[in-house]
Amino acid sequence: LNPDNEHYSNEELDLERKLRPLSFDDFTGQEQAIENLKIFVAAANQRDEALDHTLFHGPPGLGKTTLAHILANELNVGIKVTSGPVLDKPGDLAGLLTNLDERDVLFIDEIHRLSPIVEEYLYSAMEDYKIDIMIESGPNARTVQINLEPFTLIGATTRSGLLTAPMRARFGISSRLNYYSKELLTTIIQRSAMILKVPISMEAAIEIAGRSRGTPRIANALLRRVRDFAQIKGDGTITIEISKFALQSLNVDAHGLDEMDNKILNTIIDKFKGGPVGISTLATAVGENGETIEEVYEPFLIQEGFIMRTPRGREVTELAYKHLNKTKGPDQGA
Ligand code: ADP
Repeated sequence: LNPDNEHYSNEELDLERKLRPLSFDDFTGQEQAIENLKIFVAAANQRDEALDHTLFHGPPGLGKTTLAHILANELNVGIKVTSGPVLDKPGDLAGLLTNLDERDVLFIDEIHRLSPIVEEYLYSAMEDYKIDIMIESGPNARTVQINLEPFTLIGATTRSGLLTAPMRARFGISSRLNYYSKELLTTIIQRSAMILKVPISMEAAIEIAGRSRGTPRIANALLRRVRDFAQIKGDGTITIEISKFALQSLNVDAHGLDEMDNKILNTIIDKFKGGPVGISTLATAVGENGETIEEVYEPFLIQEGFIMRTPRGREVTELAYKHLNKTKGPDQGA
């Protein structure tokens, strides 16, 4: 249940695609972001112009890729999809850019992982819709400038802190996606169950939603696993009993916390007496990059009330002790 795409089989990816909302109306939550995007899209459509370059940032599985596809649909244009680590050389990017039609979308996932050369090459494409390409080789080698069709670059990143300032400045629209409430996830699970044609009780949908770490991708993955239990152990209907049994068998944490979430909490308690502890010290202790902790793990732990950010560093709360079944030592906690 790792939120990373790479851990899913092809069949899982197919299912994920099937569950992907295709229009603004299909998309649940992120209301503020959606309201604004609707206006920008309507205005661009009315002027018959390309939408401004758009950046989506936020933790994995919250809908950045989904929104890129929705924008292309709502703009009624084509979309080409790539990702930062895949674009090795400026030439790879040139191939994609020159194949874009007017107003098309180019989606670059993990845009913080572009190499500096490719990133710089992207600047003039974004700014003036122009790129330089090298023709011929050896003594005849020379660069020519070519014009691109006006296009929209949509970038997605889990690590906005790693984006360079010049890159960030080239996005006219920037939108942060937040974790979903249990209510919104319940709605998403009900919608997905309908698409998968599996009956589910309200109680069961709420139970799965509460264990999904605020993340639609995890909610959908859990739904599919619970569906297997319902099919084999029950009569196919996802009931609250089946859900509880399945989630327990899958070792899903009662709050949906993942391994790293729990490691962070355990480390603060066991090694730092509950905190406060500075982010870089904590990062070294858990063996994860400090920015990843700040951008991917910590926001959820803070939102759910397991961690507090204090001027002296991170501190766990009573709730964290309770969740991990630990008792506070005499000298622990502020
Ligand atoms: P990201 O690009 O942010 O990692 P994705 O856009 O790939 O996330 O979303 C992961 C999955 O979660 C998608 O397949 C989609 O089915 C589901 N999903 C994401 N956001 C929503 C939403 N707001 N409503 C319904 N399903 C969603």
